[in-house]
Amino acid sequence: MVKLREKKAKLGRNDPCWCGSGKKYKDCHLPVEQAYRAEQLRLRQAQDTLLPKIIEAAQGMHAAIPAAFELFWQGTYTPEQMNELDDLEDRGAERFLTWFAFDYQQDNGQTLLEHLNQTAGQGDLDVDEFEARLLKQWTAVRLRPYIVAEVRKGQGIELRDLLDESGYYVSDTKAAKRLQASEVIVGHIIPGDKPPDASAPTYYLAGAAAQLTGDTAEQLVEFARLYLEDLRRTQPDATWDDLLRQRSYALNHFVMALPYEKPDIGLLDNIVTEARVRLQLTGESLAGLAGRGQEEDEQKPRSD
Ligand SMILES: [Zn+2]
Repeated sequence: MVKLREKKAKLGRNDPCWCGSGKKYKDCHLPVEQAYRAEQLRLRQAQDTLLPKIIEAAQGMHAAIPAAFELFWQGTYTPEQMNELDDLEDRGAERFLTWFAFDYQQDNGQTLLEHLNQTAGQGDLDVDEFEARLLKQWTAVRLRPYIVAEVRKGQGIELRDLLDESGYYVSDTKAAKRLQASEVIVGHIIPGDKPPDASAPTYYLAGAAAQLTGDTAEQLVEFARLYLEDLRRTQPDATWDDLLRQRSYALNHFVMALPYEKPDIGLLDNIVTEARVRLQLTGESLAGLAGRGQEEDEQKPRSD
């Protein structure tokens, strides 16, 4: 890890280096900093080129798509409708393919990204050194719900994970235009480059995300808790991460149940109630789970 300046005071090439070595800046840290910036620029570009390659690989997996389709769309659509899905469900085809690539466990138990990462350089996917670095990090990414904490006009959005409260800065000028504070998105956010003066990487939205009104947040979390409780019947120590590695498609079922217009609270309660009935959970056990969930949140270190 290269040590970089904390503060960006403007230094001339011939000034003494900020690190106190006594050498001129141009003979000490200037080349190190230039190399770091060039590397981060390459990572940023790799972020743009890698995702289309992944989506293309996903589109080619004809044998695996029908079962994944059934899971994600709950049998509402068939793969033959893929081309209509962008109209039927807001950017539905793109949302499905992103989930299919990042989340869906193939017959061998691996996601497409895990498989591509393992076989990178062996012909399945042609990636350069920087794309390979990102691919490795992206294998951990799953579909998750976020609330928009803040919009930075013309730049991007600050998101907070609705389940574990982690914060992320997402660079996306389009999202900054389209989204408002307190709205909810269900999508994939992927780490990219890390600016020299930042403590965390810049994140990007992968593919399409579902956009929901802010009044859905509470029920969405309750809905997810039902699925976590159901999973804990067989895996008592299951965490949010475990749930999303196995059943992130349930988040799309919540999205599907919402109408395009502003949802009313009665409808949201119905969605949660239906899930409870489907998963055969009782109110009492849910209350116990809510307590456990909070303890877990407190122990988890924030990533921002
Ligand atoms: Zn120096």
